[in-house]
Amino acid sequence: PQSPLSDQVGAATRAFLAKPLRLLIGGHWVDGTAGETLATSDPATGRVLARVAIGDAQDIDRAVAAARAAFEGPWSRLSGFERARLMRRLAALIEANVRTFAELEVLDNGMPIALAERTSGMAAQMWDYYAGWAERIEGTTTTPPAFVGEALTYTLREPVGVVGQIIPWNVPLSMACLKLPPALAAGCTVVLKPAEDTPLSALLLGELIQQAGFPDGVVNIVNGRGATAGAALVAHPDVDKISFTGSSDVGKAIVRAAADTLKKVSLELGGKSPVMVFGDADLDLAVPGVAAATFFLQGQNCMAGTRIFVHESIHDRLVDGLVAHVAAMRIGHGLDPATDVGPLISARQRSRVEAYIADGIASGATLAAGGEALPGPGNFVQPTIFTDCRPDMRIVREEIFGPVMAIQRFGDDDLDTLAARANDSIFGLSGSVWTRDLSTAHRMAGRIRSGHVSVNCHGAVGPNIPFGGYRQSGWGREFGREGLDQYLETKAVTVRL
Ligand code: NAD
Repeated sequence: PQSPLSDQVGAATRAFLAKPLRLLIGGHWVDGTAGETLATSDPATGRVLARVAIGDAQDIDRAVAAARAAFEGPWSRLSGFERARLMRRLAALIEANVRTFAELEVLDNGMPIALAERTSGMAAQMWDYYAGWAERIEGTTTTPPAFVGEALTYTLREPVGVVGQIIPWNVPLSMACLKLPPALAAGCTVVLKPAEDTPLSALLLGELIQQAGFPDGVVNIVNGRGATAGAALVAHPDVDKISFTGSSDVGKAIVRAAADTLKKVSLELGGKSPVMVFGDADLDLAVPGVAAATFFLQGQNCMAGTRIFVHESIHDRLVDGLVAHVAAMRIGHGLDPATDVGPLISARQRSRVEAYIADGIASGATLAAGGEALPGPGNFVQPTIFTDCRPDMRIVREEIFGPVMAIQRFGDDDLDTLAARANDSIFGLSGSVWTRDLSTAHRMAGRIRSGHVSVNCHGAVGPNIPFGGYRQSGWGREFGREGLDQYLETKAVTVRL
C-alpha cells in the first residue's frame, strides 16, 4: 500500500518501504521472537505504509546481550579518534541520503518536507559535532589535601556502559540522532527503541550505521510497544542507563521502574513554555516568530511556546497579525512543498486536541482563529488561537501537544510579577522574550525558570546548545558538552608517590 503522493517520493524511498523491515540486533536484521509486526501509516491519509517487525522482552534481552558484548569487546578497544572516524563516515552517509530520510519522515510523521529536510540535515550535523567530542574526552589532575607533594590524583572519564534510549514520534530521525551520537562518542553501546507511530527512519539509519562500519552490537534497534519493549529495557538489570524523551507521565513511570536497579536516568519531558511579548517588540519579527513558536510541527513539539503573554498596548495588533498569519498557512500533505501545516500524528492525538479546543471554548476563552478539525482521512487540525485566557484554564495549564495557542495580556507590571506569571507551570523547558530593550531581555531571560530561553526568536536549538528541563520538564541536558557528560562516569585515581 502506498500514499496517493507516492509518485512524489524517490525510488530509494519506495524500495525501502518494499523491503522486510526488521530489528537490528548484534549486527543482524532479525524478526521479533514472537513474530509480531506493527503497521505504520501516513497520518495525512491513513494509508498503511509498511509493516515493521516489533520486539518484546525476549528481543530486548538479546539486544542488551549484544550491546554488552560490543561494549566489552570491539567497541572498548577503539580509541576516541577511531570512534570519531566512524561517526563522521555515518554523518556523510546521512547527508547523502537526506532526501530519502526526509521523505520517510514526511510519510511516517506528517511534517512538511522542507522541515524534514532541515531536520535530517541537522541529524547529520549531530554526528559530526559529537565526533569532535569523541576526540576530546579527558580528565583532570589534582592532589588530595592530606597528601600535598606525596600523591597525585587523576580522573578518568569512562563510558557509563550499555544504554537504553527510548524516543517519541514527533521528530523521529532527529530524536535518534540526538541520542545516539553522544552515547557512542563516550564509548557506550546502545539499544534504541523508536516510537510505535514512527518506526521507519531509525531502520534506514540502522542500515547506514552498518555501512559506516560500526562493530556489530554497538547500536541495536528494537521497534516495539512502550509497555512491552520499552518497559523491558527500563527494567533490564544489565542496562546501565536509560535516556528517555517523551511524556511526563511515562517519564515518571520510568523513574519508578528504574529504581529497582538504580540505573542512571535522564529525561526530556513535556513543556508549556511562556512567550513574553513586550510593548516595544518588533511586530514584524514577533508575528511570524510567535506563530512558529506554537505551530512548528503542528505544535507537537516539546519546546512549543504555547502560553503567550502580551503587553496590552500591542495586544490587538499582535493578535490581528497572528490571525492573518495563520489564515495564510496552507494545510496539506507534507510532501506538497506548499504545505505549512501537516497532520497530527494520529486520530487519537487529533481527538485529544479537539477536546482541548472544546474545553477552551467552554471555559470562556475567545476563539480568534481555527478551532476545527478537518474531515478525515488524515488527522488535520487548524492552527487555533485563543485570546482572553486565564491562568486556571486547562488550555493554559496542560501540555496539549497540538496547534493551540493561549494568549493572555499584561499591563505595566514589574518584571517579578510578570515572571511569576510566566513561571506558573509545572514545566520549565523553553521560553522566549520579545523586546527591543536589552535590559528587559536579559532580566526576563534570567527570571524565566526553564532550561532554554530565546530572545527575539523561539527554540533556537543546535548540536552545541545545551537543552533540557527545569522542574517536571526533565532531568539532565542534551546537546553540547553536557549532553556528552550524561554518558560518562568520572573515576578518580590516587597514586601515593
Ligand atoms: P510517550 O511518553 O507516550 O512515548 C514516548 C516513548 O516512550 C515511546 O517510544 C513509547 O513507546 C515509550 N513508552 C511508553 N510507555 C513506556 C513505558 N511504560 N516504559 C518505557 N517506554 C515507554 O510520549 P509521546 O506521546 O510519544 O510523545 C509526546 C511527549 O513527548 C510530549 O509530552 C512531549 O512534550 C514529549 N517530548 C519531549 C521532548 C523533550 O526534549 N523534552 C521532545 C519531544 C517530545
